[in-house]
This record gives sequence, structure tokens and C-alpha cells, in this order.
Amino acid sequence: MSAALLVLVALPVPLFTAFSYDLPSAFASLAQPGRLVVCPFRSKRLLGVITEVRSVEASDAAIRRKKVIRVLSEPSLPEDLFLFLRELAGYYLAPIGEAMRLALPPTERWTETLLEEPTLFPTTAGIAQRKIAFVVPCTVGASGASTVQALTKVQAALLARVRGLGGAPLAALTQTFSSARTVAARLAELGLVQIEQREKAADPFFSEAVAKDTAPTLTQDQAHAVARATDILTRVASGEQRTGATMLLRGVTGSGKTEVYLRAIADARAKGLGVIVLVPEIALTPQLVQRFRARFGDDVAVLHSALTPKERLLMWKRLRAGELDVVIGARSALFAPVLRLGLLIVDEEHDPSFKQEEGVRYQARDMAILRAHRASALVLLGSATPSLEAIHLTREGKAELCVLSTRARAQALPKVELVDLRRTGAGPSGDKRISLPLHRAIEQTLAKNEQAILFLNRRGFAPSARCEGCGVLAECPYCAVSLTFHKRDGAVLRCHYCDYQMPMLTQCKACASTDIALEGVGTEKLEETLAQLFPAAKIARLDRDVGSGKAAHRILERMQRREIDILVGTQMVAKGHDLPQVTLVGVINADAALSIPDFRASERGFHLMVQVAGRAGRGDLGGRVLIQTYDTKHPAVVAAQTHDVLSFTELELRARKELGYPPFSRLALVRIDALDESKALASAHRLAAVARQTQGLEVMGPAPAPIVRLRNRFRFRILLRSPSRTDLRKGARAILAAGLTIPSGVSVVVDIDPASFL
Ligand code: ADP
Ligand code: ZN
Ligand code: ZN
Repeated sequence: MSAALLVLVALPVPLFTAFSYDLPSAFASLAQPGRLVVCPFRSKRLLGVITEVRSVEASDAAIRRKKVIRVLSEPSLPEDLFLFLRELAGYYLAPIGEAMRLALPPTERWTETLLEEPTLFPTTAGIAQRKIAFVVPCTVGASGASTVQALTKVQAALLARVRGLGGAPLAALTQTFSSARTVAARLAELGLVQIEQREKAADPFFSEAVAKDTAPTLTQDQAHAVARATDILTRVASGEQRTGATMLLRGVTGSGKTEVYLRAIADARAKGLGVIVLVPEIALTPQLVQRFRARFGDDVAVLHSALTPKERLLMWKRLRAGELDVVIGARSALFAPVLRLGLLIVDEEHDPSFKQEEGVRYQARDMAILRAHRASALVLLGSATPSLEAIHLTREGKAELCVLSTRARAQALPKVELVDLRRTGAGPSGDKRISLPLHRAIEQTLAKNEQAILFLNRRGFAPSARCEGCGVLAECPYCAVSLTFHKRDGAVLRCHYCDYQMPMLTQCKACASTDIALEGVGTEKLEETLAQLFPAAKIARLDRDVGSGKAAHRILERMQRREIDILVGTQMVAKGHDLPQVTLVGVINADAALSIPDFRASERGFHLMVQVAGRAGRGDLGGRVLIQTYDTKHPAVVAAQTHDVLSFTELELRARKELGYPPFSRLALVRIDALDESKALASAHRLAAVARQTQGLEVMGPAPAPIVRLRNRFRFRILLRSPSRTDLRKGARAILAAGLTIPSGVSVVVDIDPASFL
């Protein structure tokens, strides 16, 4: 009597277990973990991944189980990637099927109509010519719509995505929104978007040829870091390295970290090892990509949001087949099927964008360390302002620290001056936010024909609109936040959380006064004020409203070509841009970033200030930074003034230790929300009670979230804290289990190692 085969399959459904199916003997030769299979599930057929293969006795095989419909011969996940994903799912308590999906090549949709093999993974021939449907946002003014109705959650989310990107291929949207076609059509009916047929554009990262560069002679610091990396890579290649190795490369802005990456990559490739490079936002790093191409030619896989699914699939296949051995991209590039992975680089490892805030809420930097462990590879974390987590790793002996202490070409770090807004008056604009010293500094920069960057972390024209008659703020009807006035998009009030928008009020809804005042300053207003003050200057703005993809890319190129004198923007201007003609950087309001309700506010504010300051004086012209603040004694401000990463780190680590926050404890945030406030609160109380039965765990809350209502849903939080990861996970698991029994309509999400508390 022969044994039969049974497979466990992870399916893309929000459940935590794998499902067992009988494997028809015809597929026996393909039965391996990591292979894709088509399985019946409820009334559907779903695409899943085999997680385990077991032989069972024929008697056991007689138990009625559903049968696998088909096993796909390709694509399949490499085994190390598959094992890593299983561990990741366990770590974040995420459904295994959803974790697997992070790494699978794009398919049009995961439902049965598209499960015929040829159409599921279309051939990649001829991807260059065809026209594609492109979804572009309309301005409210242009559509003539005077009232914008409440959108469904998915409509609002898709609209936000399209607005954020300044337009997106419809096919790319179907990646995230399975109903993108119908949703986009509905938004088009509402006059919120337009669907256009466009020629598929050339890949913006490869549109221009790049001349080969010659590698410079390394500085001593660089040479040391490269030697350490090479050492480890030698052990990785020979198989001597039995676990992961982590290196933290701390180097002031402009110290030549990128050059260290390039050498380490060259070394890894020479040893036949694959490489993954993670950057915070690929659209904002065109220069980095150019430098990679200049060194390695065009055989570098660049994963970015403007790729069509077909291009993405092509890239996936080429990596899987070992045709390409270097991939660079934002956090999701962590899941690229790179063969013989030997080196992972996380550039600007402190950047908050490495945390995914929807679906599987993973931290790509942390998971890069895990993937490196499983592959016995080297992970290189780089930053001028390392996260406290990364520094803590070096203190615990879990990571090796390498320091680049001076700028690569020996330029001085820019001089940082504080402008005390309590004592300093407004410049000629009359607006305090362009103080006299800042005004003068801009004048001088323009006179010398150099460039300036002004950083303000508020997009839109004015952050709020208030009735002067009764004092009421214009709030979003669906969220407990004030509406931001956007002038460029046709004078609208917009919610930055749900994307609701309405025409600017002419009259207060509460008291009918027509005296509505705009409060505060956003990037649009700053741009406008500067244009009035310096009419001859060429001014541009870089924030989410301008776009994050190609539009951002273009602005940075114009900046590089000296076609812009003053660049105004949000944290998008603080990324690693290397613009040698920038000699002035102004931080308009340092206090804004420091006052958000989050235990990391101080750290984030400090990082932002140092990073944006680091854009100044990278060439030979020297640099100057003005930080405007009402709190010149704030430790983050004081440390930013002297570029003193070390003292700030010590101070902040001490504070974290005293307060028992990470990296000295582990956190899990439980988010509970529902349309019905009392239902949400009652469920939150029940879950908190469940968590309190777990030992070794501190349970805080439930408490209302900082934004108590979002998209009409009332939101509560429970914070779990423990020095022990095991205890924390026990509590989190207990909550998830209890979450299955709370009333329908209440959603419960567990966020392990939370980064955002809104
Ligand atoms: P970081 O990534 O640390 O901000 P970059 O790698 O961008 O720094 O380096 C800053 C500048 O210094 C770049 O223009 C780079 O080409 C140059 N550079 C880097 N290393 C060297 C070196 N060893 N000799 C000369 N120039 C260098
Ligand atoms: Zn009023
Ligand atoms: Zn809203």
C-alpha cells in the first residue's frame, strides 16, 4: 500500500493557519515548499503557496480532504525566502498567506477567473509598445463638482494613492486594490479622476545613458569599513559564516557612505553573491540609482512604483533566474527573489518609511536583519543619524560599528545658527516664519547665485481655517481633525487623513459669520510668500501634493541642473540629495516636528534637522543652516546645532531607559475601531482584560487614539509593553484569539513594534 501526499498551503486569506489538501500523484514531482498551487477554498479557487509536504498512510489519506487543483511549475519562491517569510509571519502574528504575498510576483488578480496559467503570469514579450490606462486626479475646481460626497473606504484610499502619485497606471493600482477598475470608474463618474490612454513611458531611471565612473581612492575611514565588509563577505561566500552579521555604518552627511556600499556590492558580486539595497523612497533617490548604474552598468534591477505589473514580473523572473544579482528599491525590495543572497544594505536605516503601515505591518530594517540571519549574510545599515534601535544593537554586541567621521572631500559641515522666534522679528514679509535673519540669508544666497532649501513639515496652504465670529475650526465631517486649505487645487479644504474635500467655506456653518481666517503656514503659502518677496528667483515646491513619483524626480533633476533657486518642501527635501550648489538650508519651524504625540518625536525631529542641514555645503562653496524655533533649549535643537549625534543619542537613550520605552522594552499596539463608539470601547475593554491575564506584561489602556475618529470610525488603543518578547507575544496572541469573538463591525489590528501611534 503506497503512501499518499498531503500538502499544507498558505492561502491569501486573513487566517493564521495553513490548510491541508490532498496532492494528486500527478503533481508529486513538484511537491516542494515554496511552490504555487491552485486550491479550492469555500466557493472559490485561490492561489497559495505550499508550506509543507507530508506523506500520509493510505488509511489516513481516506479522510476526505479537498484536492489541490494544480501545482504551477513556475514561478516558485526560493526556499530560503520562503522560510524567511514564514518566520516573518510568525514574528508579526500575520496570516501566513499574506506574508507569502509580499514576495510573490504580481498577478493581475488572485481570483479564479485569472487562474489559467498563461494569463496568470503573462509572457513578458513586447512590454514596450502598448498603450496603458492611466488614472489621473482632477482638481475639484476643474470638475465643477461643488459637493464631494462621502467616499467609501476603498474609493478614498484609491483616490489618495492617485493624488499622492500625481497619477498612476490602472494596472499598477490593481496590485493594491483588487477592485481598482470599478473604483476608478466610479471616481471618474464623480469627476474626481480621469482615465486616460497613454503611451507607456520609458523607465525614468533608465531614460538617460550614464557614463561609467572611476572609483575614487577611499579615505581611511572608508577603507576600514570596506575591509570589514569584505572580510565578512569572504566568510559568507565560503560558507564559514553560519549566522547573519550586522554592520552599522555611521557617517556624517556627505561622508561617502554610498562609496562604501558600492565597494561592498562590487565585492559581493565578484564572489558570486546576490545583493539587495533598500532605500527609503526610490523616487527621491534618482542620484543613487545613477551612481549604481555608473559603477555597474544597467544590469541593476530597480523596483519603483512607476513599473507596470509586467515589468515587475520580468524583473522578478530575471532575479529568480539569477540573470540579475543586484536589486535596489524601497522596503518591498526586501522580498526580491535574489539568489545566493550575501549582502543586504539598508540606506538611511533610521527612516520611518521602512515601516509598512498596512496589511502585514513589517519593519524592513528589522526584517533585513532577520533575512540576513537566515541566509547567513551581511547586512549593512547606513545613516548619518542612526536609529536608537541600531545603536542599541551595537551596544549589545549584536552589530559592529564603523564610523566615517568626516566628509569625504574634507568639506566642513555647515554652520548651524538658531533663530529664536520669541526674540526675532519678522522680515519684510511681515510673516514671522520668514524671520529677518532668514530673509537676509536668502538674499545673500540669491545674490551669489547659489541655491537654498527651505524645510517646512506642513503641506497645503494653511493647516486650518477658523471662524473669527465663534472660533469654530473647520473639521473633517468624518475625522476628528481640522481641514487643510489648499489653494493650488482650486481653493479647497482637504482632510489629510481621509481625503475628503470641500470648497473653501464662505460662511461659518455654526454662526453664519463670513469672517473665516486661515491659520498657520503650509508649503504652498511659503512658496507664494517667497515668490512675492523674491520675484526674480525661480522657486519650486516638493511635497506629496506635487507628487512622489516622476514629478518629484523631475524637480530634483531641475534642482541639480540649477534651474531652481529656492526649493521649498516637506521632509521630501531632507532625503540624501547631493546638490553641491546648495549653500543655505532653512528650517522654518523646528517645533512642529518635536511636538507630535509620540515617544520618538524628539528623535525624529533631531534626525530631520540633521538630515536637512546635511543638504547644505556639500560642494566647495561652504554652507549655512538656520533653524527657527521657539524653544532654543530643546535638547534635539541644541544637538542639531552642533551636529552632535553622540550626545543626543546618549541623552535620548537615557530617557528611554528611564521611561521603559524601546529599545529597552518591546511594544505592541492594539488598534480597535468601529462605527459605533460604545461597541468599539466595550470591545477594547474586553480585550484589555484578556491581555491583563497574561504574565510579565504591562497593559496600558484602552485609551482613545490621538485621532479619535477617522473615516467615521471611533478608535481606541491598547498598548502592551514588556521587557520580554515572548511575554509580549503571548499577550498579543491572546488578544488576537479573543478578537475573533468580539461583535462584527469592530476591527482589531495588532501592530508589533509600532512606529506610529496616531
Ligand atoms: P553620503 O552617502 O555619506 O551622504 P556620498 O557617498 O554621497 O555621502 O558622498 C559625498 C560626496 O563625496 C559625493 O559627491 C561622492 O562622490 C564624494 N566621495 C565619496 N567618497 C569619496 C572619496 N573617497 N574621494 C573623493 N570623493 C568622494
Ligand atoms: Zn462661526
Ligand atoms: Zn477626514
